[in-house]
Amino acid sequence: MDGVVKASSETARPAHPPREGPFRLSVIVPMFNEEGSADAFFDAVLPVAARLTDDFEILCIDDGSSDATAERVRERMAAEPRIGFIQFSRNFGKEAALTAALDHCEGDAVVSIDADLQMRPEVIADMVAKWREGWDVVAATRADRATDSGPRAFFSRRFYRYFNRIADTPIPPETGDFRLLDRQVVMALRQLPERTRFMKGLFAWVGFTTTTIAYDHGERHAGTSSFKLWKLWNFALDGITSFSTFPLRVWSYVGFATAFLAFVYGSWIVIRTLIFGIDVPGYASLLVFILFLGGIQLISLGVMGEYVGRLLTETKRRPIYLARRVELPGRDEEAPR
Ligand code: UDP
Ligand code: MG
Repeated sequence: MDGVVKASSETARPAHPPREGPFRLSVIVPMFNEEGSADAFFDAVLPVAARLTDDFEILCIDDGSSDATAERVRERMAAEPRIGFIQFSRNFGKEAALTAALDHCEGDAVVSIDADLQMRPEVIADMVAKWREGWDVVAATRADRATDSGPRAFFSRRFYRYFNRIADTPIPPETGDFRLLDRQVVMALRQLPERTRFMKGLFAWVGFTTTTIAYDHGERHAGTSSFKLWKLWNFALDGITSFSTFPLRVWSYVGFATAFLAFVYGSWIVIRTLIFGIDVPGYASLLVFILFLGGIQLISLGVMGEYVGRLLTETKRRPIYLARRVELPGRDEEAPR
């Protein structure tokens, strides 16, 4: 496989002793316009969860869907009390949906999964087996990217490669948001207050012992992916600016390098003028230098702008999401938070 990098937290052995006995499982599912997949998703996930433990909850986050996703979920809730539901007041994005689910789940083991059945729920059983062995995080890695369109797979691979080169905490490539987290990891994630939530990065940042299992990523059950290339590009920028200051630092080096080259060139002009006398033509080279330097300065300003913009988002301290409705299994009506 192309460019496989192990996460820094990936160790040879789990640090935790094997986990035995009954446990509570939370399955958390962000849903955005998933009316076509919801029923099939519940049909697939409920038997898997029930085989693992009686004490499970399926937490669905309706991320401001404009279709009948909420109705589908509520129909199923009537028949299955272990389904929980958090409905956002609008679309806040998948990262916010995952954050809300992590804030509210109560499982000893928490599995995040997409609703579109691209991630097969049966894999949850393998993840729980690894968790029982003592691993704190079990990340499912895609065996291939065959179901993605050409450019998406291409840019995605590039992204992981460059991200891991410059980020403080590397993330294993081809791991999506299909993963199991131990309760301890969930508690750690709840302590991270940032508003720009690049969850893949946050998962890596908190550490703990991580193992990976490969799975075949299927086709979407229904509907279309809501991550178009432009959205992914912005998502990648969020990831890089949240986990690396390299793009800021690099401009000092570019500055030093250009200053040095300018000095060398300047010295040569002085010497040439002393030896050969004044030579007026030079309009073209002058223009090229001005445009080149102007371009470089604008790029560096733009990069700084990216960071300043994110600083602004952080300092406003707005909530990461707003819920209009929170109905959780086995708990009293909770005030949304
Ligand atoms: N999703 C979400 N909010 C959004 C976009 C997507 O909660 O704004 C959910 C979506 O319902 C699905 C998961 O995130 O469960 C992954 O989305 P999708 O399948 O569209 O992305 P892809 O698999 O193409 O990365
Ligand atoms: Mg999908």
